[in-house]
Amino acid sequence: MTDHPVLLVTGGSRGIGASTCRLAAAAGWQVAVNYASNAAAAEAVVAEIRDAGGSAVAVEGDVGTEAGLASIFAAVDATFSRLDGLVNNAGIVGHPARLDEISVERLERMFAVNVIGSIRCAQEAVRRMSTQHGGRGGVIVNVSSMAAILGSAGQYVDYAASKGAIDTFTIGLAREVAAEGIRVNLVRPGIIDTDIHASGGLPDRARDMAAAIPVQRAGAPDEVAQSILYLLSDAASYVTGAALNVSGGR
Ligand code: NAP
Repeated sequence: MTDHPVLLVTGGSRGIGASTCRLAAAAGWQVAVNYASNAAAAEAVVAEIRDAGGSAVAVEGDVGTEAGLASIFAAVDATFSRLDGLVNNAGIVGHPARLDEISVERLERMFAVNVIGSIRCAQEAVRRMSTQHGGRGGVIVNVSSMAAILGSAGQYVDYAASKGAIDTFTIGLAREVAAEGIRVNLVRPGIIDTDIHASGGLPDRARDMAAAIPVQRAGAPDEVAQSILYLLSDAASYVTGAALNVSGGR
């Protein structure tokens, strides 16, 4: 492999993650495109990047399990022998429900993927990137949600709370590793037109919500990915512990 920096994007096979992988590859990153189950989607992103002259590999692994995390980082280490960036993008929602209808199994899975998965990926990244561990520094971008601010009452307060945890984690980790060459920031997407709404049982949500968004439309995955790319880049060299809302004013 080349000496270009290496970026791991969790949930890089579809939606915001796939856009991030494509734009990062175009910006010169070698990209590890993580996915949980849809190998074909991940391979399509990899093929697109390679066709455009970039470097990418698909990396299978569920960030919500220790086995999945182990296989993701084993693949990154074996393929690239370095890690310079992490985008903690993999995330799940549930079907709309009030809190009194939500099962403990749903809560455990939501927090395993959205919170513990992101924290564990960041932990493994810090172990590889921190100058305190002999690394050359790096950058982490966590994908939160405007739900962390708005609370998602009557829809998915569990999801909103999981993203609130990511917001707090970002502030603390940013301060913890700032002197070790690692910047840590987050983006908060608003309503973005991806498959996640169908996975939550509301396939038309992006279109249905348009009138409630100040700019009167849902966002495109590339519009979030552009903000992630900014935070990954040297243009953001003095930005750490910051939150960037990408929400059309909502
Ligand atoms: P999406 O279209 O549903 O894509 C989800 C991606 O994550 C897929 O690549 C999926 O891979 C992967 N994934 C899911 N569970 C995983 C797991 N346990 N381990 C590893 N990968 C996993 O989602 P999206 O809308 O792009 O959302 C990306 C992030 O943005 C999420 O954190 C989400 O909470 C956040 N966000 C989205 C919106 C929005 O309106 N779209 C708004 C605010 C925040 P497979 O295909 O293999 O399952």
